[in-house]
Amino acid sequence: MTDITIALSKGRIFEDTAPLLKAAGIVALDDPESSRKLILATNRANVRLIIVRASDVPTYVQYGAADLGIAGKDVLHEHGGAGLYQPLDLNIARCRMMVAVPEGFDYDSAVRQGARLRIATKYVQTAREHFADKGVHVDLIKLYGSMELAPLVGLADAIVDLVSSGNTLKANHLKAVEEIMPISARLIINQAALKLKREIIQPVLDAFSDAIKQ
Ligand code: ATP
Ligand code: MG
Repeated sequence: MTDITIALSKGRIFEDTAPLLKAAGIVALDDPESSRKLILATNRANVRLIIVRASDVPTYVQYGAADLGIAGKDVLHEHGGAGLYQPLDLNIARCRMMVAVPEGFDYDSAVRQGARLRIATKYVQTAREHFADKGVHVDLIKLYGSMELAPLVGLADAIVDLVSSGNTLKANHLKAVEEIMPISARLIINQAALKLKREIIQPVLDAFSDAIKQ
C-alpha cells in the first residue's frame, strides 16, 4: 500500500487546515498543539502528518520527505517553489505583505528623493524583488521575528512584514504604506510524488478543491 506524508505547521495553518483534511476523510489522532509528537498518525493507515516550522514546509515537500504540504504564499515566495506543484489557493491564513514605517516618516517623499532605505525583514527575497522593481535602493537586514521593533530603535527605516488587522503596527506607532502582495496559504505537492502516487494524492486534492468551493 502506498503511504503519503503531509507537512503542516502548528497554529493558524493547522487550525484552518483541519476542516479541509476532514473533508478529505483525514483526521489526526493527536492534537499537534498539545502533543509533542512531530509525526502524527491519522485515522487512515496510509496517511501521516508531520509538524514542521511554517518556513520549512516547502523544503520538506521539495525534497520529497513530505508528499504534500500547506504553506503561506509568503513562505513559498521566499523559498522560490523549486520542485513544487502549487495547484490550489486554499484561501486560508489570509493577510497582506506590506511595507511599514514609523507614523512620522514620509515614505513617499523618501522614495521620490531616491533615498537609500534600510529595511528590516524576515522576507529578504521578497523585499529585494519589490524594491528592485520600484528602483528603490535598499540595505536589507534579515530578522527572524518582531520586525516592528527595528524602526523604533533605529535598526531600520522601514520593515516588510505580514499585516492582518494592523493592530500590532498601531500599537508600535507604525503605519503600512505599501502593499507588496496579498497572502494566503496554498496546497503544495512534490512534483515527482504527484506522478508516482497520483492514485492516493488526487482524491485528497479533489476533496480540498471541493471543500474550498463551498
Ligand atoms: P514561527 O511562529 O514558528 O516563527 P511563523 O511566524 O511563520 O513561524 P505563523 O505565525 O503560524 O508562523 O504563520 C504561519 C503562516 O500563517 C505564515 O507563513 C503566513 O502565511 C500566515 N500568517 C502569518 N501571520 C498571519 C496573520 N496575521 N494573519 C493571517 N495569516 C497569517
Ligand atoms: Mg508567527
